[in-house]
Amino acid sequence: MNDILPADTALWQYFERSVAQLLGSYGYQQIRLPIVESTELFKRTIGEVTDIVEKEMYTFDDRNGDSLTLRPEGTAGCVRAMLEHGLLGGGVSHKVWYNGPMFRHERPQKGRYRQFNQIGVETFNLSGPDIDAELILLSWRLWKLLGLQDVVSLQLNSLGSSADRARYREALVSYLRERYDQLDEDSQRRLETNPLRVLDSKNQTTQALLSDAPKLADYLNDEAREHFAGLCALLDAAGLPYEINPRLVRGLDYYGLTVFEWVTDQLGSQGTVCAGGRYDGLVEQLGGKPAPAVGFAMGIERLLLLIQTLDKVPAELARQVDVYLVTLGAGADKAGFRLAEQLRDALPGMRLVVHCGGGSFKSQFKKADKSGALFALILGEDEIAAQRVGIKPLRVEGEQENIAWQDVPARLKQLL
Ligand code: ATP
Ligand code: MG
Repeated sequence: MNDILPADTALWQYFERSVAQLLGSYGYQQIRLPIVESTELFKRTIGEVTDIVEKEMYTFDDRNGDSLTLRPEGTAGCVRAMLEHGLLGGGVSHKVWYNGPMFRHERPQKGRYRQFNQIGVETFNLSGPDIDAELILLSWRLWKLLGLQDVVSLQLNSLGSSADRARYREALVSYLRERYDQLDEDSQRRLETNPLRVLDSKNQTTQALLSDAPKLADYLNDEAREHFAGLCALLDAAGLPYEINPRLVRGLDYYGLTVFEWVTDQLGSQGTVCAGGRYDGLVEQLGGKPAPAVGFAMGIERLLLLIQTLDKVPAELARQVDVYLVTLGAGADKAGFRLAEQLRDALPGMRLVVHCGGGSFKSQFKKADKSGALFALILGEDEIAAQRVGIKPLRVEGEQENIAWQDVPARLKQLL
């Protein structure tokens, strides 16, 4: 679980601002959800025999003896909230997003943490491949906005209906049973509990075995095929390249039809930066009337690592202060606050630090320089007596100006 220190928060804010703006521009609205939900919710949605529920959840009893869990992902809570507030009735469509910490007791490594942050996007009561395409296209736009488009690529698959998967599961299990001894230990266990997850194995030998295994694509019903073809056609028309990965399954049980992942080869084995898919059965499973749904979640830490790895941090984030005001002499501190408040009225976007803590001009200038400010404003006894303010450039060559107090806002506006 990481502390995010002041030196890193500008990048977080830039990222979150970019995503919020983008989602707003597509008409998606934010939803804010609790971090704790009943344990039962995750068992019912994610699935009892997934890694998350079997061994990764932070679960505890509260004082009433109710079992609660720190959310390991956002979809379950989002669906719970939409249902609880009656938002899914009447076929009304919704497009929402959330941002926040998720918790999984995993083995920590680069790009994999026990508390990590996701921005998730979910849509409800839209069943066609058009909304699947929109979600993928808006994520593509985000990568372009962040300068990541050349290092992430889209993997796509269809999981069909649950009946398709049941038929496929039988075929896969009988294929793998005949090769049981060659499977890695994890896959042997999964063969019994959650056989589709074997497709996802990172083990080389298991992967080699799978190349001749039955393919899920051959088990899809006509409707599922059409849905997938529809999605592919929309992505083709938009000029978005993708790879169909017949072994792409997701670690959560609620997915059907479309699944996708945005992956990169720049982050080692933690290469998935964004993943999602369709979960048409989930609302009904949680007691609602059937409502189709599709969504995705991106891992903020991995995306920030990627931005840093590729040197795509915008240069302007390096500087957090525009102007630093130094004051010296009797009455200068009072005049300083008066000037600063006037400037804040006139230039609300300007980042102005008023020096606190006294000290000589020399030591104040050192702090001004260290702050990264572009200009120092100087208010000493002479300046106060003459009703003037010194403006000294700190980052470029140039002489100090001394201008009339009332002209300072206009001059700073020009300079910044
Ligand atoms: P992975 O296969 O990498 O474990 P996942 O399939 O468990 O990912 P999802 O549950 O689909 O991931 O979550 C969506 C995204 O959240 C992932 O693609 C990843 O970017 C991020 N993510 C998931 N788990 C972690 C984690 N422990 N630490 C940091 N980011 C994570
Ligand atoms: Mg995982």
